Parts: sequence; structure tokens; C-alpha cells
Amino acid sequence: MEQLKYFKNADYDIDSIHLFRNISPEDRQQIAHIIKNCFVVKAKAGQIVLDAHSFGARLYIVLSGALGNTASNTTASPDSKATEHTKHQYLPGECVGEISVLDEEIYSSNISALCESELLVVEAETMWKLIDESNGVARNLLQLLSFRIRAANAQIRKRQKVGEFYRQLSMVDGLTGLHNRAWLNSQLPIMIENAHATGVPLSIIMVDLDHFKKFNDTHGHVMGDDALQTAAKVLNAGLRPSDFAARYGGEEMIVILPNTNEQSALIVANRLCERLQNARVFADSTIKLPHITASFGLSMLREAQDGTVFVAAADAALYRAKEAGRNQVSL
Ligand code: GH3
Ligand code: MG
Ligand code: MG
Repeated sequence: MEQLKYFKNADYDIDSIHLFRNISPEDRQQIAHIIKNCFVVKAKAGQIVLDAHSFGARLYIVLSGALGNTASNTTASPDSKATEHTKHQYLPGECVGEISVLDEEIYSSNISALCESELLVVEAETMWKLIDESNGVARNLLQLLSFRIRAANAQIRKRQKVGEFYRQLSMVDGLTGLHNRAWLNSQLPIMIENAHATGVPLSIIMVDLDHFKKFNDTHGHVMGDDALQTAAKVLNAGLRPSDFAARYGGEEMIVILPNTNEQSALIVANRLCERLQNARVFADSTIKLPHITASFGLSMLREAQDGTVFVAAADAALYRAKEAGRNQVSL
């Protein structure tokens, strides 16, 4: 890394430095006295000023030019694309490194010059002297720190929101809009545990489209996809808000009915079966297409039954529905 160029006696105006704003004339004199021996550095565009390897805790006040908070893996050089990932800019009058200078911890991200810049270097010892000598500086520093905390909190909240968005997205099946297998794997065990703990019934229905391979072979995969979407819509429309439908895989779906016993689940399954055979894959009635049907395997959670056995029981019931001629419900 190229060394920063240090020099003294630079010409700058104290009043333009945010940290020294609204200061009494006596304090101003004191400040001028304390910082008169501070070095000024010149940084070229792209040059790193502060990073995790920076030696000693110090505050940099931008006198001219601009600094940027860049992604920590960016290696800065005049011709690098350091500014591309710039998150925050520090303009003349502003400072960086105030937290490191107070707690003497290393700086957590890279700060580099966005263009040729002049920076006043305030060592930790000098900074403490300024705080001791001037209430105004201490007040300005407190204000700056609270601003930084607010900004950091806002960043965290934003990241949490984005994380939650992607988490939700990763739980939805792209084709049908139903919950996906990852969702099922995370949620079904919770529902099972809850049902065991409360003694409230829990039922599931395995749904598998009938002769779907033939449907695809005859009408093509695009129409096959449309048929799957139609099936998903029929399932969703036929359920209560407290029920769930997920795509188990391929042309298999699973319906979860919390607080529902076998008898009620049977009514739901038969309703879904009937609605599906009457559903039109295409709204356009001029296109003559066969309807789709599905077979339904129902299972109610038994005492002490685990998730694997529970789903296997619904699968076995589904197999019986297929064996019995498809387009029907089996227990
Ligand atoms: P069965 O009545 O015994 O269930 O017969 P089937 O033809 O439905 O069963 P099989 O398991 O032989 O075939 C399933 C078919 O479902 C084959 C596969 O191409 C199709 N399929 C699975 N996922 C999708 C999908 O996302 N889109 C489309 N278009 N087809 C799919
Ligand atoms: Mg099938
Ligand atoms: Mg299948």
C-alpha cells in the first residue's frame, strides 16, 4: 500500500470543520493551539486512508477532496474501481474514524480517497485533549456519534427487511406460488409438535395429478405448467385461511389442515377433488383441452406419530386412491 504523504502548516479554516462548529471564541483559540501541530496528509484518488490494518487510532478530517466508505474487499489504486461500491461519502468539514479514536479499536471498513484529498490527522491523544478543553467539541462529537448510531440502526433495519424479503421468497414455489418444500420442512414439524402438545387434531392431504406425464406428452410442458398453476389455484381457493397448501415436488402437492379431524378433512379433500375435475386450465373456451384430475391421500396425525410416518401414511393413502382408479380420495 502506498504511504500517505504527511506535511505540516497546511492552510485551512477551523470554522469550516464540523467538529469545531458553534464554539466559543476562547475554545476556538484553545483548539487552534491544540491542533496546530497536527499533520495534514495528501491522499491520491483511490488510496486507502483507513482500513483494518491502519496503524494507531486517529481521526481524519477532510479539508479538501472526498473520502468514501468502500466495500472492505476492494483493493484501491488510482485505476481501480474503488468508488463503484461507495456507500457513504465524507466531504470537506466532515470526519472519519471518530469511533476508533475513542475506543482505540481497529476500523471495521475501508475508507479511501475518492479524489485527491487533504486530510487533517488528529491522533487519539490530541482528540482527548480537545474533548477535555472544549465542551463545544465534546457536544459536537456526541451529536456526530448519535447521528452515526441512527444511520447504523437504519442500515441494520434495512438489511433485516431485505433478509426477510428473500427468506419469504425462498419459501415460495416459483411456478405455482404455493409454499415450497423448504417451507414444508421448516413448518410441518412445528405444526406436528403443536398438535401433539395441545391434543388438537392435524390432518394432511397428499395430492398427485393423474396421468400428468401423458398430459405433458399430449399438450406440451407449457400447458403442463399452466395445468399445475390451475391446480394450485383450485387448492388455494378451496381452503380456509388457516389451512396451507405446498408443492411437495413435481406434480405433487400437500394440503395441511390444522385443527381438522379425519371426518372434516375428508369433506375438504372431496371438495378439492370435485373442483379440480371441473376446473378449466385455460379461460379461453375456444381451446379444447381435457380437464385435469388428481388423486388425494388423507392422513390424520396419530398419537406420538412423527412427521416422516405421518407423511408416509398420506402417501400410502394416495397410492390406494391411484390403485382404486384415480380422481378420488382415499384414507
Ligand atoms: P399418476 O397418475 O400415476 O400420478 O401418473 P403421472 O403420469 O402423473 O405420474 P408420473 O410420476 O409418471 O409423471 C409425473 C409427471 O409430472 C412427469 C413430469 O414431467 C410431470 N411434471 C412434474 N413437474 C412438472 C412441472 O413443473 N411442469 C410440468 N409441465 N410437468 C411436470
Ligand atoms: Mg401424477
Ligand atoms: Mg407423482
